[in-house]
Amino acid sequence: MAKKKKVVSRRVASSNGKAPKFDRVMVVSAHPDDPEFGAGGSVAKFAMDGTKVTYVIVTDGSQGGEDPKQKDSELTAIRQKEQLAAAKILGVKKVEFLGYKDGHLSPDLKLRHDIVRMIRKHKPDLVITHLPGRAIEAPMGASHPDHLAVGEATMAAVYPDSRNPRAFRSLLKEGLEPHVVKEVWIPYWMKGDHFVDISKTLDQKIAALHKHKSQVAKPGNEWDIDKWIRKRHREVGKKAGYRYAESFKRITV
Ligand SMILES: [Zn+2]
Repeated sequence: MAKKKKVVSRRVASSNGKAPKFDRVMVVSAHPDDPEFGAGGSVAKFAMDGTKVTYVIVTDGSQGGEDPKQKDSELTAIRQKEQLAAAKILGVKKVEFLGYKDGHLSPDLKLRHDIVRMIRKHKPDLVITHLPGRAIEAPMGASHPDHLAVGEATMAAVYPDSRNPRAFRSLLKEGLEPHVVKEVWIPYWMKGDHFVDISKTLDQKIAALHKHKSQVAKPGNEWDIDKWIRKRHREVGKKAGYRYAESFKRITV
């Protein structure tokens, strides 16, 4: 059994040098900085290859701080600015902020509807989003409740809602026709089955992460993000024979 599994993952990995070609990619994330942590190297690679990348950031990021006295609007403005700067470094064409309150998400019909609207507007072939369930083998930061909600709502938005002309029919009145997404990728550094060689874009990923200054350089809580990121992606890369890699669960719709 174990042997069989290994052969499969190696075959997938070796086909990755030529990752499938997508014209349009959409990253749907709960918070500013999630796209860079999960898939920044791959996003830069897609953009470099001429793929149009769009981000959808669901929350306003207003709980990403340590000072209870700071105004939500102030932190939201800072984080949006940081997100735009990070996206620019990676070559992302468009960032959409849905403005939901940070920490308050559930995978309900309203959230699904709003993600369907984004999918029908930007027509991605590939959607990258959060794991729609708790990864109990990972540190808890990976399973933030907003991540679970966005993962689940996005999966439901991809299938069946975006492609179903009978779902959310008011969108048709906005001129948003059904759209079929081909694949969903979930960043999953421990158990991914699809590896993207990010050796050439790792520096861009790190530079983009540094733009999220409010998150990676919190006063009194500074950490060596460069070292941590390089170590993680070196370890993932080893599984696929790349110097540095990001890994995903790849789902065909
Ligand atoms: Zn997050």
